[in-house]
Amino acid sequence: MLELQNISKKYEGFLLEGINLQVATGEFLALLGPSGCGKSTLLKIMAGLITDFQGELLIKKRKLREIPVKERRISMVFQEALLFPHLNVAENVAFGLKMQGVAKKLRMQKAADYLELLELPGYGARAVDTLSGGQKQRVALARALVMEPEILLLDEPLSALDFNLRQNLQGVLKKLHRQKKLTTIFVTHDREEAFYLADRIGILEAGRLKQLGTAAAMLAQPQSAFVASFLGERNILAGDFLAGGLFRSREFSLPTSFTKTGAGYLLIPNQAISITQKAKNSAGEKTGEIVDHYIRNGLYHWELLVEGERLTYRNSQLLGDWGLGEQVGVQLDPHQVLYLAE
Ligand code: ADP
Ligand code: MG
Repeated sequence: MLELQNISKKYEGFLLEGINLQVATGEFLALLGPSGCGKSTLLKIMAGLITDFQGELLIKKRKLREIPVKERRISMVFQEALLFPHLNVAENVAFGLKMQGVAKKLRMQKAADYLELLELPGYGARAVDTLSGGQKQRVALARALVMEPEILLLDEPLSALDFNLRQNLQGVLKKLHRQKKLTTIFVTHDREEAFYLADRIGILEAGRLKQLGTAAAMLAQPQSAFVASFLGERNILAGDFLAGGLFRSREFSLPTSFTKTGAGYLLIPNQAISITQKAKNSAGEKTGEIVDHYIRNGLYHWELLVEGERLTYRNSQLLGDWGLGEQVGVQLDPHQVLYLAE
């Protein structure tokens, strides 16, 4: 459906470089990365808003540059709703249709239909300055969808909203996508949002696409420490892999079955860790000192100092009433740790 071939774009001090990507018809792709990594630039290239880029962008095998603007069926929504203040809600939604010369009765009907789809029935006559932030974003989405695009580009459309509203609109977006199966590219810096909404996720770092895949596939095998940490992994240790598979970083060491040697990263996923009341002195057990504990996202977290490395362990259950400074036994399953080259 949409194909990016070696897309590059240079600004002073920033290079978006060599982006290759294919988006299937009906797919929901999230582009995830920190502020300044080039997400908006890439999305604007797809929207046709930036034209001086290198590489090729194909839509249904046709070069975007060669598709006349009025034949392009691409709609974009930004972080700010950017509504016209002098038009009411329905006129805002119907604006693009008016520009296309659609008769008033039909365009107002369509505006009403799309407002209903976005759970704003009967809002058409309202002035936009009477709307909340979330309602404005839904109007912006209705305005994009009423054009019946083939490709919907969303640039952090929920990022300016507070947490509850954001979750609520994530639900609206998911429902819409299930109904309409519109090819959607969604830019966000929020991994939970990407996990919740997207079929596949592309992770960008400093202008480069670092990894592309389903969330599950990337969590199972992140290709770099950056990707792992952006996906929420906490226990990424820099060190050396020695012959025989021993990983060593300062005071910490763990036997592994990796055959690579040299500098690299050891990722210890949560499921590789178990902690027990001190200390069974069983083989391979390490001692951890509790240096912090708290609840986050509904899970109990313990931060442990293990051989000079700070590890985080989380569990849905409160395992023990451990206080700061207490020592616990820590088991690290070498079969569940991952090797990261960079
Ligand atoms: P993101 O959306 O991931 O936060 P952007 O694509 O907006 O990142 O920006 C990527 C980099 O390009 C930033 O360093 C930004 O300052 C720079 N940049 C974006 N637009 C322009 C521009 N029109 N002129 C010069 N530099 C720009
Ligand atoms: Mg941006």
